[in-house]
Amino acid sequence: MRYSLLLLFLSCGLYGQAQFDTIGYSITCWGRDTVIEATVPGPANVIDGSAEMRTRFEVTFTDSVPPEAEESIRFAADVWGSYLQSDVPVRVLVDWRDQGDDRILASAGPSTIYRAFPGAVNPLVWYPVALAEAITGEDLNKTDEADINVVVNSKANWNYGTTGSVPRNRIDLASVVLHELGHGLGFLSSVDSTTDTTLSIGFEDPELNERLFIIYDLFLETPPGQQLADTLLFNSPSEELLAAVIERLEFAGDTSVALNGGELVPLYAPETFDVGSSVSHLDERTYRAGTEDALMTPSIASGEAIRSPGPVTLGVLYDLGWPLSFESVTSLHEVIADRLRIYPNPASGSFTLETEAIQEPTYALVFAADGRQVKRQPILLSGGQAQIDITGLTPGFYTVLVPAGRRAYSGRVVVR
Ligand SMILES: [Zn+2]
Repeated sequence: MRYSLLLLFLSCGLYGQAQFDTIGYSITCWGRDTVIEATVPGPANVIDGSAEMRTRFEVTFTDSVPPEAEESIRFAADVWGSYLQSDVPVRVLVDWRDQGDDRILASAGPSTIYRAFPGAVNPLVWYPVALAEAITGEDLNKTDEADINVVVNSKANWNYGTTGSVPRNRIDLASVVLHELGHGLGFLSSVDSTTDTTLSIGFEDPELNERLFIIYDLFLETPPGQQLADTLLFNSPSEELLAAVIERLEFAGDTSVALNGGELVPLYAPETFDVGSSVSHLDERTYRAGTEDALMTPSIASGEAIRSPGPVTLGVLYDLGWPLSFESVTSLHEVIADRLRIYPNPASGSFTLETEAIQEPTYALVFAADGRQVKRQPILLSGGQAQIDITGLTPGFYTVLVPAGRRAYSGRVVVR
């Protein structure tokens, strides 16, 4: 996997919406010279067509895409569409080309990144367009422009099926497209190689005279708890940055960590920095082929299928800001129902949450009756209690969920 940056500033300014066309900002993914017969099946409700599409993926194919490939590409898009929750359709353009090297499988990335759009929490952080649109609830780029570009290598020996196992000599197209879309949705850093001994992170903004990061960058940590985006700790470009992304690098987001059994999420950080592979993938040794979180590791083998994103990857996307539905979150946890005491109930303005089961810092999620998440509040249950602010919620029934490791505790509240 490698990617190159050929970036072009279109407009900037601190609070005016800014767009950054990421021409060539894509990750190229490579196959592995091994055969691993392992299958992580796709979600049953996507396979049988009963899944509710929470985000519409509009997939467009260039003329070179063979018709027999379209179904597995659409399947991969539908898998994401069943988990992510955006009112704005995600437009994907798929091209099919000879990429000149049989080991290349595909390349993909967001077409554009945005910052300072309406709803952006921090106007100085860049977001891939599909995520920016999910957060702001509106189309940001032109409606005939793709949000994510995927180029599939026509020379790879593809398997087109979406169920069952993959023949030993074939690469599973649905798995590769699912992986590529993950990069396009936001699973990518701005870390880039500048010389043999230095790396850069973020993009220098000439007008602000400041280094700006892409959202994924903000969660990167090298032990002991040093953030790569901490400009006091790391100059960019620098040799220190290179040293920081070899051997051990972690993703430190609340939800991904909770879904990783409370451990920081190991990212791919080989001893020799691999431009494009390092940083923007999960660690291959931790998330092995055939295990539920193997999708976003740097390579896929012949015979291997990973048709579902897995909890850790969903957690990463959630930490980046992707809204996930209540069912998606609960499907990731063992939910222990009615273990949260909530009072007063009915409540208005705020309520008190109480449980003895959780001591760690976590957060409270509040879901409306239709499954939409309406609130996410970091909490520390000091003395087993926390105050949850619910001002602005329309009256009705709500479900409250507090994750703790792989479990979550739930309760119900009526808002007056
Ligand atoms: Zn990749």
